[in-house]
Amino acid sequence: MFDSVIIGAGVAGCVAARELAESGKNVLVLEQRDHIGGNCYDEKDGHGILIHKYGPHIFHTKEQRAYDYLSRFTEWYEFGHEVVANVHGKLIPVPFNLNTLHMVYKKEEADILEKKLVEEFGMESRVPILKLREHQDPQIRQIADYVYENIFLHYTMKQWGQTPEEIDPAVTGRVPVLISYDNRYFQEPYQGMPLNGYTSMFESMLDHSNITIETGTDARRKLTFTESQILFEGGAFEGEVIYTGPVDELFDCRFGRLPYRSLNFDFEYLDQEDYQGHSVVNYTVSEKFTRITEFKYLTGQKVPGTTIVREYPFAYTGAKGEIPYYAIAGDESRRLYEKYCALLAGVPNVYLLGRLAEYKYYNIDAMVIKALELTDKIKEGRTKV
Ligand code: FAD
Ligand code: UDP
Repeated sequence: MFDSVIIGAGVAGCVAARELAESGKNVLVLEQRDHIGGNCYDEKDGHGILIHKYGPHIFHTKEQRAYDYLSRFTEWYEFGHEVVANVHGKLIPVPFNLNTLHMVYKKEEADILEKKLVEEFGMESRVPILKLREHQDPQIRQIADYVYENIFLHYTMKQWGQTPEEIDPAVTGRVPVLISYDNRYFQEPYQGMPLNGYTSMFESMLDHSNITIETGTDARRKLTFTESQILFEGGAFEGEVIYTGPVDELFDCRFGRLPYRSLNFDFEYLDQEDYQGHSVVNYTVSEKFTRITEFKYLTGQKVPGTTIVREYPFAYTGAKGEIPYYAIAGDESRRLYEKYCALLAGVPNVYLLGRLAEYKYYNIDAMVIKALELTDKIKEGRTKV
């Protein structure tokens, strides 16, 4: 009946499904949630305000292929996303940049420090905080210490339960110190929101006569993986299976659970025009939540009232209802991950794709590219896991 089965209808699964469907394959998409879109899913709340159910998602990319691909399914509300940090009640731009420098130091000192940063790193450069802290110049280290203490340390402790030194340096490297006057959170040329939301974009992507979607279906009820083959509803399945869920769960976590961080989202509707005047405010020195998002500033909606969400991180335990959001990179977790992957090594035509299945920190654009690359190879018959 089906040539391909795709497990999970997030970015990875939707792009893969569309690509295989367009190549003439009959594709079944199984999604355990009651909706498509994965963590990018958005919907209108009870007050008609478009919210992101699983946290704020801003599309940003320099990859022409990712932008062009998604542009087949949506128009864009384009804007330069800005974030401020609430540091003891004062709002300052994040990533820390030269504007921030002039807000937190007195004029003469800021001028001297700016000159030094520009001489040392060059205008428009991006310096990871952990690198800045190792600098031999004491004045540069002084800035680094300020940024570390006021932007990174407490936020990272909340988000990861670990210090910036303890986590993968690539994670804090996503938000470098910017030697520029650019207040935007991302510097890529394309950034914004699908004009009618993510869900609508994914609906058009999956709108193809070769695609069948079953939401509310845990794929493990239909598919099993033996040492050498895939069984679909008990019978051998020769087509390809693309799995975008957590790999440990395919095997009932028999070697133990892969560690993840999760989040609780606390939504609140307020009967007022404006709550914080910004799309995202990071709480970098206080509070138990990491940030507050005010959706009307992300989506550009003109609506009376406003909806906000606070994010509370915690360690994922696998309990019912919890969602694994962030893989925790490290040698031990990588070894465990690879042990699970080895269980699939003898099974032809199974592909692990996505943030969960690859146990990696992907943005939307990188996920689109990865899904396109995988399906290119499948279409050309060029690949094995
Ligand atoms: P997912 O979206 O997680 O989709 C996987 C799907 O598989 C899920 O729907 C899940 O229910 C389903 N599934 C799993 N197991 C099974 C099973 N057994 N049977 C059936 N279905 C199953 N990226 C950006 O570019 N910009 C941002 O601003 C941004 N913000 C983010 C904020 C947060 C809080 C988080 C967590 C991520 C953010 N990201 C952002 C990253 C973005 O969410 C990911 O790049 C993207 O969601 C990855 O897509 P995916 O398909 O791999 O995974
Ligand atoms: N970070 C921080 N303070 C901030 C913003 C980010 O400490 O104000 C750190 C934190 O460890 C976070 C990482 O930088 O997990 C990456 O931030 P990003 O905004 O990219 O994380 P996302 O929410 O997109 O996963």
